[in-house]
Amino acid sequence: MNFNPAAELQKIMNLSPFDGVNPVISDSATFAFSEADVMTDTFEGKTEGCFLYSRHWNPTNVHLAKALAAMEGAEAAWLTSSGMAAITSAILQLCKYGDHIISANTTYGGSYAFFANYLPAKFNIEVSFVDITDLEAVKKEIRPNTRILFTESMTNPLLQISDIPALSEIARANDLKLVVDNTFTPLIISPLKLGADVVVYSMTKFINGKNDCVAGAICGKEDFINSLIDVSSGTAMLLGPVLDPPRSAAILKNLHTLHIRMMKHSENAGFLASRFKEAGVKINYPGLPDHPGHKLLGELMNHGFGYGGMLAIDMVTTDNASKLMVAMQDRGVGYLAVSLGYFRTLFSNSGTSTSSEVPVEEQKRMGLSEGLVRFSVGLDMDIEHSWKNIEACLKDLNENQ
Ligand SMILES: *Cc1c(COP(=O)(O)O)cnc(C)c1O
Repeated sequence: MNFNPAAELQKIMNLSPFDGVNPVISDSATFAFSEADVMTDTFEGKTEGCFLYSRHWNPTNVHLAKALAAMEGAEAAWLTSSGMAAITSAILQLCKYGDHIISANTTYGGSYAFFANYLPAKFNIEVSFVDITDLEAVKKEIRPNTRILFTESMTNPLLQISDIPALSEIARANDLKLVVDNTFTPLIISPLKLGADVVVYSMTKFINGKNDCVAGAICGKEDFINSLIDVSSGTAMLLGPVLDPPRSAAILKNLHTLHIRMMKHSENAGFLASRFKEAGVKINYPGLPDHPGHKLLGELMNHGFGYGGMLAIDMVTTDNASKLMVAMQDRGVGYLAVSLGYFRTLFSNSGTSTSSEVPVEEQKRMGLSEGLVRFSVGLDMDIEHSWKNIEACLKDLNENQ
């Protein structure tokens, strides 16, 4: 890819002279109009740059939405109160009662549960789950009422790489919308530039990077974003999952350091991945040459940000995984916690936590080991020291068996 998301971000973060370097926070739910007919026009979507009510738009949210749109090469973006709000709003906007969706079988547990349980029960929307790296399997699932193809750029927790250009060709040929969750790989992958129609984010993770709030975003064509917030029919406007403006102001400030953080997360994860491999631990990291998606990721990625901060090791049994995680926490390697993209390393046993919504049989079928420990590698200053601690935990575990 020759897209440069960092340069696009820098371009948009420009000020008029005498403005504060950080934009003024608009702390208002409602906005005053000078003329009554301007208010009427605004309700009808006929006015540009007029604010009506913060569930729709807010000047502070516009700053962050514009920055994200620039970073993604998108026409527009809209901010949500969580990643799940971004996913559910985008999906519900794109399909209706009785439609069909094809989803990667290895997605975030919340997305999986929304597709497997919620949509069929409430909207008679059937969802087929496929191995997203098997393009023939994807094609086989297409039905006359299929509307959406859903995947994650780098899937959770198996770290498969989605071939976005190939999936987008399939989507185009069959009049489907390709929706991509890019939560694991901001800056590294630019799905819209590779042919996706809509990108969704949990900004809770790398984008905000502080684990002090939940937030999300939807990026895509201007028409699509406008349809989401249409006052009479927009899913986002009517279900109301808007991001609070003071939070969006805080996240905008963190966006300025995203590139540095992604580089460091990637560097540290690459280091640990090599050490795990040398130590004979079964390791899954897309930056390692023997990862099945390594070459593809190399073709899709924007260079300079590395292969990402996520890795997974296989401890074979849940019991071993639990013992290792507790030992690592005691030795200060990081925290036994869900979520990702934090300063410190976070680890969890996916099968019993962030993928627990996926039935055990399905976990087995997709190759999710019960002993899988997913790491979000932190910004450790001394990663060699962190490895020494991990190594000591592995040694204790082996000796006590
Ligand atoms: C965390 C996560 C979500 C959900 O985001 P929230 O902000 O927790 O609602 C969705 N997709 C992926 C890949 C995630 O990691």
